[in-house]
Amino acid sequence: MTPDTRDSRPTLAVWKFASCDGCQLSLLDCEDELLALAGAVRIAHFTEMSRTSLPGPYDISLVEGSITTPDDALRIQEVRASSRHLVTIGACATAGGVQGLRNFAASGEYAGLVYAHPEYLRTLDTSTPISAHVKVDFELHGCPIDRGQLLEVLTAFLAGRRPVVPGHSVCQECKSRGTVCLVVRDATSCLGPVTRSGCGALCPSLGRGCFGCFGPSDSANTASLSRQLAEHGASDLELARLFRTFNANAPEFLHQSVALGAASPGRDRTTSESGAGS
Ligand code: SF4
Ligand code: SF4
Ligand code: SF4
Repeated sequence: MTPDTRDSRPTLAVWKFASCDGCQLSLLDCEDELLALAGAVRIAHFTEMSRTSLPGPYDISLVEGSITTPDDALRIQEVRASSRHLVTIGACATAGGVQGLRNFAASGEYAGLVYAHPEYLRTLDTSTPISAHVKVDFELHGCPIDRGQLLEVLTAFLAGRRPVVPGHSVCQECKSRGTVCLVVRDATSCLGPVTRSGCGALCPSLGRGCFGCFGPSDSANTASLSRQLAEHGASDLELARLFRTFNANAPEFLHQSVALGAASPGRDRTTSESGAGS
């Protein structure tokens, strides 16, 4: 479609790589703000929402998902080249996501378990964040992201300022809402002290420990938390599994899981590209 040259609104593009679409849905979930947003920006490319796709360059690109195929590795270069600002959204895009668990397995190990004919797949052995491939202007964390934080990021870029997204831990939100600490109450293992806030301490408010879906908080002391949870009875295996979920490849969580005895990345890997990846 030919762009309307009389429309001076900044353009927004939303791109999907290896992901579940949940973070893109967070944008569509902004029901009360969506009309105002659509008035402030021209949504130029967003296949989750519309078949219309306007050519770049784009003022803001939101990128969901990780890089898991050779084609993706090329496509993200094109997205970067056509974007003035590039913001990655969600654990997949910022840390490789749950599909990043393949990074700790032998080449093709999971594909053989899931697919009847993995020989038809053409994937990389690894799932890597967008920042491993191109320059990223801002990373918004979460699985999925918080829509309030997404609106703050979009508003900030439109206003030409830095987004204000707190880097403190889930514990602070837990205290704010008056939730009794689960570690103190009944020795539940909880990653809240080392996990970035944004969810409103959702899991502890429902009686379950945080499993780190917003990724590491600023200054996360994962070694200290592991010692504390071990004193409350958690085994190294349980703790390593906690660090190995949606943000298993975030450096702070990765280093701690390896320190607890979990496999290092690249186990038994001999090639960087596989015809039978996971
Ligand atoms: S971060 Fe979570 S919600 Fe977002 S695309 Fe990845 S798996 Fe889905
Ligand atoms: S329940 Fe978890 S998040 Fe809440 S205060 Fe305790 S350790 Fe922190
Ligand atoms: S409490 Fe932890 S696991 Fe639960 S939604 Fe928040 S960040 Fe994610």
